[in-house]
Amino acid sequence: MKVALLRETYPGERRVALVPALIPSLAKQGWHTIVETGAGERAGFPDAAYAEKGAEIALSRTAAVQDADAVLQVRSLGANLEAGRDDLNLFRPGQVVIGLCDPLGQPQAVKELAERRVTLFALELIPRITRAQSMDVLSSMATVAGYKAVLLAANQLPRLFPMLMTAAGTITPAKVLVLGAGVAGLQAIASSRRLGAVVQAYDVRAAVKEQIESLGAKFVELKLDTADAEDKGGYAKALTDEQVQRQREQLAAVVAGCDVVIATAAIPGKRSPLLVTADAVRRMAPGSVIVDLAAERGGNCELTRADETVVENGVTIFGPTNLASDVPYHASQMFAKNVVTLLQLLTQKGELVIDLKDEVIRETLAAKDGQVQPPRLREMLN
Ligand code: NAD
Repeated sequence: MKVALLRETYPGERRVALVPALIPSLAKQGWHTIVETGAGERAGFPDAAYAEKGAEIALSRTAAVQDADAVLQVRSLGANLEAGRDDLNLFRPGQVVIGLCDPLGQPQAVKELAERRVTLFALELIPRITRAQSMDVLSSMATVAGYKAVLLAANQLPRLFPMLMTAAGTITPAKVLVLGAGVAGLQAIASSRRLGAVVQAYDVRAAVKEQIESLGAKFVELKLDTADAEDKGGYAKALTDEQVQRQREQLAAVVAGCDVVIATAAIPGKRSPLLVTADAVRRMAPGSVIVDLAAERGGNCELTRADETVVENGVTIFGPTNLASDVPYHASQMFAKNVVTLLQLLTQKGELVIDLKDEVIRETLAAKDGQVQPPRLREMLN
């Protein structure tokens, strides 16, 4: 069996879907790795490092893909809408493609890959169950983004994060508010605490209060009945307009008292909840910083512009949509471990086997035999 690793074509993308260290474990299961030249360069993994671990280097994308049974990429079509289209003619019917492809946001792209008769595994669809944790790319990338968001804020903030008692006086610690305490939010709390900030955090799912407190942050209690805010997959459900309005009103005072807001609140496949209004931003002290990790789906802050830096009343609002790519070495290492674990699940005795009895395989399979597989995606396309 042959697996091809492709060079990413999304503008600015620095990650790569496989790192050299994992090639021997793939080989043990019967996989021969073909690497498109330059695939890992921007993440710090030159061709020579792959070759040293036994991979073959292909001098063109076509050469890498043509004989492959499986293709690995960070961003497949839905997550790379323009350049990703060039791959459609490259993929062969029946070829397994594994990557992120924003199935809930871009179901049409899944359909295009299905029409190409590709067997597509959408990494966003990995179920949030214990057994699938080692394949959970969203969690890995959210971990990296949560960490980097704090550094971005700390770098911009005209204040120090830690409390310092010096001969030149006492420096008070920065006050950080984290909105949404999922994977990225919890990492943002931990990273802010490591830098010495005083941290508060809010999430609509009551279950996370304990997790927030265990990281040394204070849970922000709002007067809001959100007892049924969690779905059976562990994700938040969308609130009513009235509930979100009440959230915004109550959060405004908390936001005003903070130096940094790291916003991560998201609902899968939906617009991110608007939690911080322009008015709330204007109540913050000049020099304050908002890093809005929800920017890709509209943002948690009314003033956020995706991939732009907005300054309003002296408050800087960052809306990065691909922050994990700014830490490409470790983001790729984590991504690769997740993807290799999934590929190993698809391998039985040296053969590629798509066993639909396996929940992880079934849930992650987005397209096969010319059909979009998940019923909810088919409904979205009707
Ligand atoms: P996410 O990126 O979808 O959302 C981020 C956070 O925003 C969530 O915690 C959500 O509750 C919160 N949020 C949504 N709407 C909000 C609102 N109006 N106000 C405030 N907060 C709001 O979530 P995620 O980080 O991908 O994780 C979702 C859940 O899945 C978490 O419970 C996480 O622990 C769980 N999880 C489980 C596994 C596993 O068991 N394998 C793996 C990863 C995550």
